[in-house]
Amino acid sequence: MDGIMRAAVFDGSDKLDVRNIPISKLISKEDVLLKVKVASICGTDLHILASKGLGGLVPTNTILGHEYVGEIIEVGSGINYLKIGDMVTVSNNIPCGYCDYCQKNLPNMCVNMRSIGVKENGGFAEYSIAPAKALYPIPKGLPIEVAVFAEPVSCVINALSKVKISPGAPVVILGAGPIGQIFVRLLRFMGVGKIIVSELSSYRTNLALKSGADRVLNPDKENIEEGVKAETGLGAELVVDAVGTLFGTALRLVCSGGTIILFGLARDFKGEGVISQTDIMLREITIKGSYISDYSFPVALRVLKQDPLKIEELISCRLEMSKINDGIELLRKGNAVKVIVYP
Ligand SMILES: [Zn+2]
Ligand SMILES: [Zn+2]
Repeated sequence: MDGIMRAAVFDGSDKLDVRNIPISKLISKEDVLLKVKVASICGTDLHILASKGLGGLVPTNTILGHEYVGEIIEVGSGINYLKIGDMVTVSNNIPCGYCDYCQKNLPNMCVNMRSIGVKENGGFAEYSIAPAKALYPIPKGLPIEVAVFAEPVSCVINALSKVKISPGAPVVILGAGPIGQIFVRLLRFMGVGKIIVSELSSYRTNLALKSGADRVLNPDKENIEEGVKAETGLGAELVVDAVGTLFGTALRLVCSGGTIILFGLARDFKGEGVISQTDIMLREITIKGSYISDYSFPVALRVLKQDPLKIEELISCRLEMSKINDGIELLRKGNAVKVIVYP
């Protein structure tokens, strides 16, 4: 399509540059052109800006935005199963399908991974091009503001698919940003017992209680370990680090025989350094890393359609894309959980 569109572009600084650029054209016959309806700002976008491009991974002048919903307005000639007018969400990490990891059915470990809105142009724009295989039509009747959560929900579903959780088990979630809140809501839906959250921001604390947490502890004001032991006795059967730097804390909160999910990404790409290997051995702790999603979009859309998560309660603010930097600022201060933008 010819013409000019507005897009929010990573220019190497810690703010997005909202500028006019030409609308991209379909190159591959497997590509689709979308008119973006809504997008949401992810913690990864904040990481990209804070780290000036994740150590060179994000090229300058890339349109960010990897959580978005669009309407198909043009379909490449090689695609016959999508049509103009379909409303779709985008699974932004696209495995190659032929590397050793893809062939071992570990698509999220793909060594040739494409990443829309991170390594190539994404959805903070009026129009976006995506390969058809990355698109998931959204179920009829599902509001676009709910469907836009498919990506973070699919990542949390991927994490939870790696662990065995018994009904009534006590769990701890470290960090009540968007991912922490989704963990709380999904675990509540799955029937765990006490959910204890650790969080500093009062805005996110209140929302965590609304999400279904039984108790939120503030690590600046109280001893988390004592608080968790008082609530659970032995400690939590499952601890999720949704921050990325709290492995040591997670080890102190998990009961023997329990499981830790490492989900958050540390800003320095290292996370906490000093870990007691002996403690892990003696107490038979299971540690699961979880990275992006793993063909979990269909489950995410199914859950969102059933609406047990009431996910739209996580939307703190809706903005026009020209004001996207205001949303980023709100998120940096912890005064928002999810900010959605309309191009
Ligand atoms: Zn995301
Ligand atoms: Zn691959």
